[in-house]
Amino acid sequence: MMKAAKSSPAHLYVHVPFCRHICYYCDFVHGIYREQSADAWLDALEKEIALRTLPKHLDTIYIGGGTPTSLSPAQLHRLLSLLDGKSPYEYTVEADPGTIDAEKAAMLVDHGVNRVSIGMQSADDGLLKAIGRHHTHADTIEAVSLLQKTGIDNLSLDLLYSLPGQTMEMLKDSVQAACALSPKHISVYSLTIEENTVFGKKGMHALDEDTEADMYEYLRDTLPAYGYHRYETANFAKKGYESRHNLCYWNYRDFLGFSCGASGKEGNVRYDKTRSLSEYLKDPLAAETIELTPEDAMFECIMMNLRKKEGLLLSDFEEMFHVSVFAAFGEKLQALLKEGSLCTDGKRLYCSEHGYDILNSILTELL
Ligand code: SF4
Repeated sequence: MMKAAKSSPAHLYVHVPFCRHICYYCDFVHGIYREQSADAWLDALEKEIALRTLPKHLDTIYIGGGTPTSLSPAQLHRLLSLLDGKSPYEYTVEADPGTIDAEKAAMLVDHGVNRVSIGMQSADDGLLKAIGRHHTHADTIEAVSLLQKTGIDNLSLDLLYSLPGQTMEMLKDSVQAACALSPKHISVYSLTIEENTVFGKKGMHALDEDTEADMYEYLRDTLPAYGYHRYETANFAKKGYESRHNLCYWNYRDFLGFSCGASGKEGNVRYDKTRSLSEYLKDPLAAETIELTPEDAMFECIMMNLRKKEGLLLSDFEEMFHVSVFAAFGEKLQALLKEGSLCTDGKRLYCSEHGYDILNSILTELL
């Protein structure tokens, strides 16, 4: 497995707060794309980059959203140009089918983007429509083929499950359709319906817990048969194609978060940039910051690391906190080891197969 860089912060997340349409389940920070707003946002982002000192080189850049590819070609070019010269090892841009064309794909390659994460969500066109997506599965096939032909073969596909109206058969078809496209990485997300979404306002519900659990088990057991190993609770990859950027979060590394709606962590400070576009335009550094106590940081570190199949590297924890994880979590940790929810081989602390299924209760115990 690839290792995230240890120098800090060598990872940058940039949030693009625009989408062409709003999906019925979505509560990310975004608005409908308008050319003038996007121009003003780019002005603010340029100011933010000038006000912060970016390292000369970055290990990873991740441009997410929103939908980065909802920007016009000229705006996408401007955005990518702002980050030119950082030579990241992994450079990811999120894209939605239907918002990527040959011009934008070539532009991504020209600026060094080497990984694209595509919001496929499902292969069922009826279901896509019912959740407010504005693309079909044919659009996903076209986007994948276009990107592969343009030279980006490190593609990740997102799949959603537990959607209102989704059957197990539909999920199986989507998994088959996704694997047929040979992406290097697949992320699976269970739907949660937040109050402020279109679904939330309509009082709609995700599927019941048992069906959701059955769907997750199906994904967990089936994707490895297609060659995708589960390296994090919701992420599956071909060997060597684990997301280097996301591993920086799970390895509890520092990362920069730019633009409204982004978060970052630098040392013992975690910050959430303002979620308001208008506030961001006035003050590109507007953010809420939280100073983490050593106890907060140690808990966050174990929480993030246990999401990975390989768990926590014991020496990493000691390097970060100058105390062993066993000393820090004492009897609570010993009890979890004794009952077999957690295991250690002397180098790592990780969940057993059973423990991985009850990760939330393990974390509650440790809290
Ligand atoms: S799910 Fe993605 S494309 Fe849909 S509204 Fe949210 S951010 Fe935009």
